[in-house]
Amino acid sequence: MDKSKILITGGTGMVGHALQKIIPDATYISSKDYDLTNEQHVKTLMQESSWDVVIHLAAKVGGIIDNMTKQSDYFEENVLMNTNLVKWARQTNVKQFIGVLSTCIYPDIVDSYPMNESVLHLGPPTPTNFSYGYAKRCLAVQIDACNAQYGTKFQYLTPCNMYGPNDKIGSRSHFVSALLNKIKQAEKDGADHIKLFGTGKPLRQFMHSDDFAKIIKLCIDNNVYESFNVATPENLSINDIATLALEVTNNRHMKIEYDHTKPDGQYRKDVCIDKMYSLFSKIELKSLKQGLKETYDQIS
Ligand code: NAP
Repeated sequence: MDKSKILITGGTGMVGHALQKIIPDATYISSKDYDLTNEQHVKTLMQESSWDVVIHLAAKVGGIIDNMTKQSDYFEENVLMNTNLVKWARQTNVKQFIGVLSTCIYPDIVDSYPMNESVLHLGPPTPTNFSYGYAKRCLAVQIDACNAQYGTKFQYLTPCNMYGPNDKIGSRSHFVSALLNKIKQAEKDGADHIKLFGTGKPLRQFMHSDDFAKIIKLCIDNNVYESFNVATPENLSINDIATLALEVTNNRHMKIEYDHTKPDGQYRKDVCIDKMYSLFSKIELKSLKQGLKETYDQIS
């Protein structure tokens, strides 16, 4: 396949950087190039070349507090970007469109875990991510509807929480980046503890961004058009992850304190990865231990 016919939105983000390493010849765009909430921009982008593949990573993404305080922005910007992209991908005859969702689109609580792809509409997303979760869930609805009505073979991947180099820092950072940066800062300050939000009890699956990029590439290389969950088999508590991070960074002496005035977020959202393994049985994923160590060593 002519890799120059692959368009990657959100090319400056964490996953975009991971893809650049393995699909260097694709076209990567950011909000500086096109504002994807603007339909005219999207129309121009999609008509300027006959894209074979679109990997739609772009999204307004952030941590729990930002999600709760800017609910309207998270909903509006994500729905606009997704709606414009799918509509113009269809109208310009894109062959493969990969929309990227998130496991926070799943119901807050279900009867049994891990959640497989069929439970998506069996309840509302968790309140702490409600508008972002719903906006992303709408992308699944839009892609399924587009396939049903127009016969496209568009797909969506639903990854668990991710971490890796080039993640945001500050109020929009994700848990692992925030954790590793807190450890690094505590080291610099000679502090004997780190402070985390909530209780440490919620369970999370975490995948390295390089592994997610690898799965996206496998879909393209093998003409896989299915929609499926993407996650690691490890489902650990926040406290276990923080303890592991202190261990691999040689900071076992640091204590973990919890700020109970801050929210925990969804208690668990582990997803079933049988479908992912049925498609790519030989995929090897980084263990969290290895990924945490690598990512920490890349922080300056
Ligand atoms: P990220 O680092 O926040 O990057 C977001 C990207 O979207 C940036 O390139 C940004 O461009 C672009 N973007 C934002 N608003 C835009 C707009 N209006 N027009 C054009 N581009 C815009 O995201 P990520 O962590 O790589 O995540 C990639 C995808 O995976 C997202 O769809 C996210 O929802 C999903 N996901 C992420 C996680 C996670 O833990 N990170 C977990 C599950 C799913 P600028 O650089 O110009 O702002």
